[in-house]
Amino acid sequence: MSGTAARSLVIQNIGELVTNDPSLGDGSALGVTRDAAVVVADGRVAWIGPTGSAPAADDAIDATGAAVLPGFVDSHAHLVFAGDRAAEFAARMAGEPYTGGGIRTTVAATRKASDDALRANVARLRAEALRHGTTTVEIKSGYGLTTVDEVRSLRIAGEVTTETTFLGAHVVPPEYDGRADDYVSLVCGSMLAAAAPHARWIDVFCERGAFDVDQARAVLTAGEAAGLGLRVHANQLSHSGGVQLAVSLGAASADHCTHLTDFDVEALAGSRTVATLLPGAEFSTRSPYPDARRLLDAGVTVALASDCNPGSSYTTSLPFCIALAVREMRMTPAEAVWSATAGGARALRRTDVGHLGLGARADLILLDAPSYLHLAYRPGVGLIRTVLLNGEPR
Ligand SMILES: [Zn+2]
Repeated sequence: MSGTAARSLVIQNIGELVTNDPSLGDGSALGVTRDAAVVVADGRVAWIGPTGSAPAADDAIDATGAAVLPGFVDSHAHLVFAGDRAAEFAARMAGEPYTGGGIRTTVAATRKASDDALRANVARLRAEALRHGTTTVEIKSGYGLTTVDEVRSLRIAGEVTTETTFLGAHVVPPEYDGRADDYVSLVCGSMLAAAAPHARWIDVFCERGAFDVDQARAVLTAGEAAGLGLRVHANQLSHSGGVQLAVSLGAASADHCTHLTDFDVEALAGSRTVATLLPGAEFSTRSPYPDARRLLDAGVTVALASDCNPGSSYTTSLPFCIALAVREMRMTPAEAVWSATAGGARALRRTDVGHLGLGARADLILLDAPSYLHLAYRPGVGLIRTVLLNGEPR
């Protein structure tokens, strides 16, 4: 920790403070309080109360009546890659369907790239996400698909986040065409053994054209035995069985959840598995959005994440995802903001981020707006004035 992190800081004149702590403020899930001040010290929230009553601090920020929120927790991103697929996007917008096959294009580019090139791309995207208010980001491997390339992807991801996810089972690489089970054996065996020390999570793309339920179960079970937490790319393009698998194995998150049966919704509602919705993917593939309203009404915990990747959702902006969730998925602004902060934290099984209760990590954003409502109300507008990461202005 640098010397400045030990200094205390008071943010005064917060017009609207979103804490995600229902015991604070208005009693809603967002725990909204008005005319507030926050003191942060040693990278943590040390005091919350009425503006003007805050204890003295070494430094001060005047929020001038603006809103303050917990930093966004992006629980699903693929940032380790080379190249882009703008031409594929243009073709899709001209009418070609999304099949997931373009992943191999990125695999080829990633394998050819130097460590420094991959590292520079991750740093660029991490900085971009931070400017859009993301203070915690999960980063997956999955564009290497050899032991060496998966391990170096995870090492590079680990330089910018502790939330690293081994996604060796993203697709079957071309050299294993027609031998998917052999590739699954590699992923579950020596590749996992090499990757596990560099990962917190394991993930699998359970979908036609990628891995079926039995293959996905083998990958997840092996990952769990290696000490990794479980996440699943589930039911994005079809009723893949991924959601049921995620729930049956106690995965932290089932991601996408675009095609769900009533049985899937029921299973999620009765579980600790978060449904992580990624509306950037539906936007960028011009596909029907997941039915967030149906999940919320059933009592499912919903997270919103970017799915940032060069093929199907090349955005790091959670404000954009919030706007899509409100406009296209019938989430209320309050639900969408909660899902992009506290929901993301639940999907990563983190209790220190995604809220601004006492003792929380001092990851917060100050908007150029009087209310969190503006995140959906003013889409496409850069509303993030200041980001505090671990108590330090960035
Ligand atoms: Zn993904």
